Amino acid sequence: MKVDLHCHTDASDGVLTPLDLLSRARANSVDLLAITDHDTVKGLQSLTKLDTGSIRLINGIEFSCHWQNKEIHVVGLNFELEEPKLIKFIQSQQELRKQRAIRIGEKLEKIGYMDTYSAACINGKTESPGRPHFAEALVQMGVVSNQKKAFHRLLGDGKSGHCKHEWPNVSEIIQRIHAAGGKTVLAHPSRYTISDRQLEQMISDFADLGGDAIEVISGRQNPLVTQKLAKLSVGHQLSASVGSDFHRPGQPWADLGCCVPLPSQCTSIWADWIA
Ligand code: AMP
Ligand code: MN
Ligand code: MN
Ligand code: MN
Repeated sequence: MKVDLHCHTDASDGVLTPLDLLSRARANSVDLLAITDHDTVKGLQSLTKLDTGSIRLINGIEFSCHWQNKEIHVVGLNFELEEPKLIKFIQSQQELRKQRAIRIGEKLEKIGYMDTYSAACINGKTESPGRPHFAEALVQMGVVSNQKKAFHRLLGDGKSGHCKHEWPNVSEIIQRIHAAGGKTVLAHPSRYTISDRQLEQMISDFADLGGDAIEVISGRQNPLVTQKLAKLSVGHQLSASVGSDFHRPGQPWADLGCCVPLPSQCTSIWADWIA
């Protein structure tokens, strides 16, 4: 079975529309798919009335939150899409994103790059654009030659256009997803800039707070990393998830639905959903 439980549409910082993403999933023979846009379910909502054929679509979202004052991402899966408290909370995350984006625009203005907030809004088709939409604006303005450089020079952690942000704590995210009937997955554990000891602490805390799974497979990763994460998931009695973190065709890490299978010792987060 081909599973991909982490990807993005143009409802956040992906480039494909939800319909085009589904077509790509079909072309890549995906059986189980979760669309997990950053702090929004808008893409997903546009598909609720659609017959997705052989693809089983799982409700998903990727929440921005804090663990020990570090920004981390938690994927929520298989929650009730219409749950009023969750919908309201997602609106508050969008408002936080908007306030952050305005501040990023102000910071960039101070160092001479004007009107990036409005350009980012146009790029993201939203008032709450993400950093990739600012990166795109900086490329369009000729400030940098590509988005990676925009993050490296201006938008990455600690750079002059970066805003430290007051995201909710990871515990709140776990509680809110559970209250809407969903499961919680620590996203791309190996992508945070932390030591191995901190990584183990993060996973241990996530388990203690009631988190359900970690992404043992994220995009294309070193098999040694996969082994390490499989061991941590088993050791902390967490289930395991798989996600490409697909944003756009041609991205260097993994195409939609094109991840390696979970190591055999892992318990998949989706085992109960397909029974
Ligand atoms: P945001 O959610 O607005 O904080 O933006 C984070 C998103 O930016 C991530 O989900 C990635 O899609 C993208 N991103 C993060 N770091 C980089 C980077 N170094 N180069 C390009 N894109 C990045
Ligand atoms: Mn992203
Ligand atoms: Mn992420
Ligand atoms: Mn993602």
